[in-house]
Amino acid sequence: MASQQSTPLMRLMTGSARLAATTWPVAGRIFRERLEIDDNRSLWVSKTPGYRPRPALQGRITADLAIIGGGFTGTSTAYYVSQRFPNRRVVLLEAATLANGASGRNGGMMLNWVNGCDNVTPSMTARIYQMTRNGIANLCALIERHALPVDYRRDGTVTLYTDPARAEAAHAEVELHNTLGIPTRFFDGAELRQHLAVEHGCGAVFDPDTGQINGAQLVRSLAPVLEAQGVQIYEGTPVLRVQEGTRIRLTTAQGEVDAGAIVLATNGYTGALGYFRDALFPLHSHVFATAALSPEEQHTLGWRGLAGFADDFDRISYASMTRDGHLIFGGGSNRAYSYCFNNRTTYPGGAMSASRHQRAMEATLRRYFPQSHMLPIAHRWVGTLGITFDRRPLIGVRGEQRNVYYAVGYCGHGVTLANLAGEILCDLYAGDDSRWRDLPFIQSGYHRIPPEPFRWIGYQMFTRLTGRSPRV
Ligand SMILES: Cc1cc2nc3c(=O)[nH]c(=O)nc-3n(C[C@H](O)[C@H](O)[C@H](O)COP(=O)(O)OP(=O)(O)OC[C@H]3O[C@@H](n4cnc5c(N)ncnc54)[C@H](O)[C@@H]3O)c2cc1C
Repeated sequence: MASQQSTPLMRLMTGSARLAATTWPVAGRIFRERLEIDDNRSLWVSKTPGYRPRPALQGRITADLAIIGGGFTGTSTAYYVSQRFPNRRVVLLEAATLANGASGRNGGMMLNWVNGCDNVTPSMTARIYQMTRNGIANLCALIERHALPVDYRRDGTVTLYTDPARAEAAHAEVELHNTLGIPTRFFDGAELRQHLAVEHGCGAVFDPDTGQINGAQLVRSLAPVLEAQGVQIYEGTPVLRVQEGTRIRLTTAQGEVDAGAIVLATNGYTGALGYFRDALFPLHSHVFATAALSPEEQHTLGWRGLAGFADDFDRISYASMTRDGHLIFGGGSNRAYSYCFNNRTTYPGGAMSASRHQRAMEATLRRYFPQSHMLPIAHRWVGTLGITFDRRPLIGVRGEQRNVYYAVGYCGHGVTLANLAGEILCDLYAGDDSRWRDLPFIQSGYHRIPPEPFRWIGYQMFTRLTGRSPRV
């Protein structure tokens, strides 16, 4: 995506008259801030300065387990497998740089629950909540154990209800969940405003242990830990071909891996390897982040201490706040997503189309925070999601030799789950699925998505006729 310098600068120029007439505290700083709008680089990645990618694979190597993809799924799997099997040779192959995919480009919300698992029994509801809650706890414990330089916060997020009837239904659900030991709380409108003074908030469900995390810092700072555990990491190493057998041969741009088993940790990119093309389609998702706001500026805006929120629309909006005051915002309109024809994963639009997407999102943010038009936007980026038809992820093992492991299709909810996937895949690789086999997304079937061009036509009809986006 080309540079978008002109948009915020123009906005600053036209906004300067308005700024003079307001007491909005960020105004005085706007002219001092360098607005860092560069080529599709996320705020998260910008907080890993000086990161030096490892060299690409050259030549032929062998491995017990070759992991394809250097995001949350790939690094968490490498972590758990290399810890449990210190004598096995684990190799991680990343096409670009670690955290190049969604793991370094997301909205940062570290959430409970698993998408697509709404209609399950009460005991499974409790089980899924506890599983993701433990996943968040384990992830934070891992960061502390290895003293990783990762910014994260865990002071809770809310799901916002914009309609009184939906808020009441959510209230009743919280009461039911509390009987299952799920510690969510319902905020009525007045209580919500003490935490988040947004327009249109009739009520909210507060989930206390959830939070926000810098995924790029996590993935990149975990790499030396993996290497200390014996994992070989190659960046700039796209896997071009997979040939299955009792030994699997991976062809890369400049080399080859002969592996006993592989892990597809490629989420939205998986179709390009020839897997799950009828299960998973990639969708580009746009996000932006403001310059850092002081605590007073956050308070003036209406943000009073939560890690983030998402709303109750199909065209879901989500926002989170870093500890150092960057507001991140995504979703909220069909324009926030771009469909990739035929599993394309390079962003199809140019700078102009991206700025149209961003303008639509900024308008949505203003619906919640009317003063947000004053905020200096510091980063804009696009990331690739992997979407399944029913939004349910797919985790398991496949192939004639049962040596192709996969965890894909988190549908915009993968910050917690893709990190948990490492634990799950490690158990499956060890031949023991007893902790996970009852879960509805382990070794499950899936709804098939029609091939192109029907898929494209269906997506366009659905989004244009209904005005809805997939709730990811
Ligand atoms: C804009 C956006 C906002 C999001 N916001 C949230 C959020 O707030 N909360 C939440 O829970 N989830 C969110 N998500 C989803 C979440 O980030 C993902 O589910 C999660 O990061 C997936 O991790 P992963 O490791 O499976 O995939 P990825 O992070 O996409 O990693 C896949 C990696 O595989 C590499 N790769 C691809 N093909 C090959 C190949 N052939 N050879 C070698 N390497 C290859 C890619 O370069 C990439 O680095 C968001 C996603 C996006 C895009």
